[in-house]
Amino acid sequence: MMQAAQHGKEEPRAYSGLIACHECDALHRTESLPENSSAHCGRCDARLYRHIPAALERSLALHLTALLLFIIANTFPFMSLKIGGRVETDILLSGPMALIELGMSDIGLLVLLTSIVFPLLVLLGSLYLLGCLRLGIEAPGLGSVFRMVQHLRPWSLIGVFMLAVLIAIVKLLDMAQVEAGTSLFAFAALLPVMTLAQQGFDRSLFWPQEAVGSESAWLPTGAAQQYGLAHCHTCALLVQVSQGHCPRCGDHLHLRKPESLTRTWALLASATLLFFPANMLPIMTVTRFGQGEPSTILSGVEHLIAAGMWPLGLIVFFASIVVPISKLVALIFLLLSIQQRSTWRPEDRTRLYRVTEVIGSWSMVDIFIIALLTSLVSFDALATIRPGIAASFFAGMVVLTMIAARSFDSRLIWDAMEQNAAEVGSMEQEHG
Ligand SMILES: [Zn+2]
Ligand SMILES: [Zn+2]
Repeated sequence: MMQAAQHGKEEPRAYSGLIACHECDALHRTESLPENSSAHCGRCDARLYRHIPAALERSLALHLTALLLFIIANTFPFMSLKIGGRVETDILLSGPMALIELGMSDIGLLVLLTSIVFPLLVLLGSLYLLGCLRLGIEAPGLGSVFRMVQHLRPWSLIGVFMLAVLIAIVKLLDMAQVEAGTSLFAFAALLPVMTLAQQGFDRSLFWPQEAVGSESAWLPTGAAQQYGLAHCHTCALLVQVSQGHCPRCGDHLHLRKPESLTRTWALLASATLLFFPANMLPIMTVTRFGQGEPSTILSGVEHLIAAGMWPLGLIVFFASIVVPISKLVALIFLLLSIQQRSTWRPEDRTRLYRVTEVIGSWSMVDIFIIALLTSLVSFDALATIRPGIAASFFAGMVVLTMIAARSFDSRLIWDAMEQNAAEVGSMEQEHG
């Protein structure tokens, strides 16, 4: 507060030459970058902005290729399974549809959204913005479409789905003959193409950082919050928070994510509650020749290892048990460290948060495997695989931890440090 008053007089009208780090809120001056390089935060090492001159053409070409592959992947047969002269051929949509028909519409819908709908929306949204930029047109709704792409990207789980496909194939090989369809090859190609395409899709393309450099006389120090400045999450513009909305892209402005601690705690508590039924109740029932019994996540892993498929068993164990527990523990640790106003290794804690955000979605692999197996293995008396109630609990847990990670605000780690430092400072003054 003291600092805000001191610096208040020197504040310039425009903050175009400044940027606030989205992960720690430190203020930085923007500088012109050499080609194909990026600027990183000096305090927490988050990437601030990039300069990739050829990104537009490349990204546009990659997105068009990805769209073509996506259409092929969704129209042609995906996989065929042969058991005793009978054949079951699936398209991509069969998995979620089979789950919905079996009355498990919650996970059916989740699979449909994360493996088909969200990737398609991300692709179309990106293509629209890149196309307009290439044609030199100002895209109507630029801010809203960019926000949609940004929000849906963490929920577009093509890579996780591909891992599930590989595991499902290996699992099925010991029970039947598996044949890959055209769609599977298109889908496999879609993964690297979409990853590369998304790498080039950056806010710097639509809102390049203006480099003011040393011309700006105002040299800010510390967090943007103390000057009442908010970092726009969509276009990275630095704006007085009192304006309410970003003048450039229309995004709602706030200094910190609203009610971040309370919301993250509530989501984590619910996710922890779901963890127990998810692991104790049956997640899947494999029936062969009329015989079979329900298995839990852990007994499924044991079965895989006992059958000699220990790499697969380890992947499933890691994705469905280690990742969710680590994620819960990491987020609880981060919340507690903020509430304790810890000063311990803020860079590492910010890094821990970054990792937590990325790994969480890989737990969805189990749900995708269930969807694939349910739709493929439906040979009545011969062999069937049916999802169990634990699948819903497990999916709920994964979704809640993913939302919890997104509602967490890593800038609070740094705020707590500053508060701590300010308190120590004032205590020293009192003693002196
Ligand atoms: Zn930072
Ligand atoms: Zn903005």
